[in-house]
Amino acid sequence: MFNLILFGPPGAGKGTQAIKIAERYGWIHVSTGDILRSEVSQRTLLGLKIKAVMEAGILVSDKLLIEIMESVFRKNNTAGGFVLDGFPRTLNQAKELDRMLVKLGTKVSLVLSLDVNEEELVKRLLKRSQDQGRKDDTEEVIKNRLVQYHKHTKPLIEYYEKKNLLKNVRGVGSIDDIFAALCKSIPE
Ligand code: AMP
Repeated sequence: MFNLILFGPPGAGKGTQAIKIAERYGWIHVSTGDILRSEVSQRTLLGLKIKAVMEAGILVSDKLLIEIMESVFRKNNTAGGFVLDGFPRTLNQAKELDRMLVKLGTKVSLVLSLDVNEEELVKRLLKRSQDQGRKDDTEEVIKNRLVQYHKHTKPLIEYYEKKNLLKNVRGVGSIDDIFAALCKSIPE
């Protein structure tokens, strides 16, 4: 089982690239943002609870994310691999992920970090708000999401660097060029 984490700030292109990687390698794409958005749009009990938090650009609780990921792994325990997009986002989530993977007899295989400068991130997110109308892509909320990234998620770089699992990939350029660079970093 190959467990790839696609890492990066909001707007780095994780979703776009994760879909392409999953397709090429036959792995399962797990976007926690998509899972949570679907709960909100279906107005489930959970969705109603997290709607305001998500729309404010704040992270949803670790406890909930861990429950979601446990269920994803339980349902797909024969998968050849996973591309994790948007998880883990806190140190606690990263540690819990390690624990979940040990239970499955596997571990994080690689973390590919998409590097994009902040100015470009904001530009992309504002464009996405016009194209897709995501409620959390407004200027105010984008600011919050970047703050959350710097505060809670960025420390994971060091966590995975220490484990020798992190590779940086330039996230600026055409989608195909970035995809090619990502694939080059994935062992055959
Ligand atoms: P994304 O589509 O990955 O940008 O996620 C959209 C929103 O979903 C985030 O701003 C958070 O509110 C929530 N979210 C997604 N993944 C996580 C996670 N791993 N931990 C906490 N909140 C998350």
